[in-house]
Amino acid sequence: MVSPDGGVTMRVEADRGKCMGAGMCALNAPEVFDQDEDEGLVVVLESEPAAGHRFAVRDAANLCPASAITLIEEDAG
Ligand code: SF4
Repeated sequence: MVSPDGGVTMRVEADRGKCMGAGMCALNAPEVFDQDEDEGLVVVLESEPAAGHRFAVRDAANLCPASAITLIEEDAG
C-alpha cells in the first residue's frame, strides 16, 4: 500500500531570531503555525505536518518575508 504522502516526510523549523511577526505563516497554514501572544513571533504547532497540510506549509515558507521558515523534506523510502 502506498501512503498518501508517498513516503516523503516533511519537517518544519522556524527561526524566531529572524521572524519579524508578519503573521503570513499563521494566516496561510494555521494548523501548523501560530504566533506567541507576547511578541507575535512564530510558534510551530506541528513540526512534522500531515500530508494534507504540506501545500499550505510550502506556501507559508515561500511567503515569509523574513525567510525564517525552513522545510526539510526527505524521501523516507
Ligand atoms: S511569516 Fe515569517 S516573519 Fe511572519 S510570523 Fe511567520 S515566520 Fe515570522
